[in-house]
Amino acid sequence: MNSTEKLAPGAPPAADFIPLIVPEIRGNEWEYVKECLDTNWVSSVGPFVDRFEKLTAEHVGTKYAIATVNGTAALHIALMLAGVEANDEVLVSALTFIAPANAIRYVGAWPVFIDAEPSYWQIDPAAVVEFLENGCRWDGHVLVNRKTGRRVKAILPVHILGHPVDIDPILEIAAKYSLPVIEDATEGLGARYRGKSLGSFGQSACFSFNGNKIITTGGGGMLVTDDAELAKRAKYLTTQAKDDPIEYVHNEIGYNYRLTNVLAAIGCAQMEQLDRFVQAKRQIAKHYRESLSAIPGIQLPNEAEWAYSTYWMYTVLIDERKLGIGARDLLRGLGARKIQARPLWQPIHRSPSHRSDVSFLCPVADELHERALSLPCSVGLNLEAQDTVIEALKSVIDTYRASMRVR
Ligand SMILES: *Cc1c(COP(=O)(O)O)cnc(C)c1O
Repeated sequence: MNSTEKLAPGAPPAADFIPLIVPEIRGNEWEYVKECLDTNWVSSVGPFVDRFEKLTAEHVGTKYAIATVNGTAALHIALMLAGVEANDEVLVSALTFIAPANAIRYVGAWPVFIDAEPSYWQIDPAAVVEFLENGCRWDGHVLVNRKTGRRVKAILPVHILGHPVDIDPILEIAAKYSLPVIEDATEGLGARYRGKSLGSFGQSACFSFNGNKIITTGGGGMLVTDDAELAKRAKYLTTQAKDDPIEYVHNEIGYNYRLTNVLAAIGCAQMEQLDRFVQAKRQIAKHYRESLSAIPGIQLPNEAEWAYSTYWMYTVLIDERKLGIGARDLLRGLGARKIQARPLWQPIHRSPSHRSDVSFLCPVADELHERALSLPCSVGLNLEAQDTVIEALKSVIDTYRASMRVR
């Protein structure tokens, strides 16, 4: 079973398999979807789209929210709003799911990969400052990458795994050089930085409602901003840039990036449960912490004193020397016991799809990729299933160590 397979409402995961993350559909989803079907409001406008946008803006604390077909589309539009053009450069986390780097290429710009910091595994603000201050020159109007000669146009920090980026130093240096900041908050819904919701710091921010995110619409996204002009333009660009809806006059190339009312209906029902989902994730994290903290060689995720993490994707680091088994062998051992674990993404500076003539050194991202292991952490994971995971983890470690001794 994978995260896209449908479960009956309220049904526990199949008894013999524990997936990494599956959706939690137990609220008003059915009722709201039925309302769409009964009223014929199934397409790309409708009351649930408006309501979902309003609920999201209220939660994040921004004035505007524009629903999109997915998070990647929201990122694409956010980059256009920031004025990023072909051959510009955009700073982005090296350790992230690939979508933000791809979106940078959609507008013809180039990613500049910034390493992670070792404490919370987020984009390293010191490395951002270092690159802008020493890797670039300021010609009075624009910032130019000394190595490539290209204009540096925006910063796209990605809040990964449900924990915030340390964003203040990034906002500060961005203000110094008038660079727009776009937050990729797709993994950060419900999390806070110094008491404020993620997504409320940048010029704009993007969310995703993909099946594995903390709330889901099956697929969907949202762009949030405080800027009325940008909000208007986002709506315009996501709806085919229609200037005269009767004569079908379009002054620009637009996109069909809308979210349907049916999916927004699911989103509204999910949004109603967000606080409970965050509590459930934090409870899961607490139980893992209590159960695994005594094992030398397993490093648990930290929550910064300035952070409120959702622990969206519960991830630990494996020290192979201390534990006697590496992350990949652990993953295989868990898989054999029908427990789905996962490594973190290949850092994007290593991705064959983002090869460039510029080399990036991101040793922290490389090490995290080698050592990280994400464990099952669905909102609906009950204590019994979580204990099964914990016992399996210990058993895989013991079995592996015993087999190494025999050899
Ligand atoms: C999920 C995700 C996205 C993209 O969201 P989609 O809705 O799948 O397009 C973007 N960035 C990050 C970091 C993500 O985890």
